[in-house]
Amino acid sequence: MSNAHGQQRPRDRRSYRIAGSGERAFLANSALNDHAEDLVPGYALGALDAQETSAVDTHVRTCLACERALIDAQRTVGMLPFTVPLRVPAADNKVALFARVAHVQKAAASALPGAHTAHFRTLTLPRSTETVGATAAPDASSVELPAGTRRQVRTGWLVSALSVPLLIALVVTGFWGLQLRNELSSQDAQLAELQSEFANFASGTTSYPLSPGLDAPQAEGQIIMGANQQDGMLQIDVNSKNGPQSYELLVNHDGKLESVGEVTVNQDGQGQARIALDQPFGDYESVHIRAKSLDANADSEQFDTLVRDSAGPLGSTGSGLDVGP
Ligand SMILES: [Zn+2]
Repeated sequence: MSNAHGQQRPRDRRSYRIAGSGERAFLANSALNDHAEDLVPGYALGALDAQETSAVDTHVRTCLACERALIDAQRTVGMLPFTVPLRVPAADNKVALFARVAHVQKAAASALPGAHTAHFRTLTLPRSTETVGATAAPDASSVELPAGTRRQVRTGWLVSALSVPLLIALVVTGFWGLQLRNELSSQDAQLAELQSEFANFASGTTSYPLSPGLDAPQAEGQIIMGANQQDGMLQIDVNSKNGPQSYELLVNHDGKLESVGEVTVNQDGQGQARIALDQPFGDYESVHIRAKSLDANADSEQFDTLVRDSAGPLGSTGSGLDVGP
């Protein structure tokens, strides 16, 4: 932001803020003869006094470099709210905030030349939601006006300078937090699910290697069960480059084959899927991985791609292994 003014005489920025120092004279002399870059960040933050603010206002109208610097600074300030942790405010805080917003709007409107109070409308403030609207809608924004009259007050630095502190105020008081809460609670649910899944795996996994079936002598695979023996992971590598294909996981439950999930392999023949069983893995007599046939009638006499079979229940041969999900 400073390169644009490289030809200017070097200024001692450290002394600039000292009241009464020579540098300060720029405000008193002419805003047109000196650049406003030192004031721009404060301006964007709404931290300047009235004299400084109007000096910047005047200067940026004629100085492209400083106008760009200001736009930069305002963009940066606009990002600040996203670095602030969200809080849910008490209901009366919100009412107070909206009352103050309405007050600031009126003050700003009366300061704008040629604009009447009723014509002013804050363009950056979203319409109140149902929780807030009934009690705290600023009365100025409820006035309906023809589009033309509204547009008259749309210009000017004042509006954009006002919007930045409002933006921060809204976030600090949690206005956006309220709107985001629904989104977050669905993320919370996902997170809880992941956490319980992680706990299930972290407290002990058992790996059950699968043997190649008649259909795919080169296939490899394993089933990894978490501590509860019902939620786990199926990993297979059919070692063929036949392209993506779906496989079905079947369990032998009291002599009957039941489909309990499927896994799709990539073009290298590898795939994995989460599985959730109705009963502990070890209670099934066998498990089978079979290619899903595109022909619905052909699956009665299909061969296994992978299989795990044993004389007794599967649990008797499962080997304990520390395998991550
Ligand atoms: Zn300038």
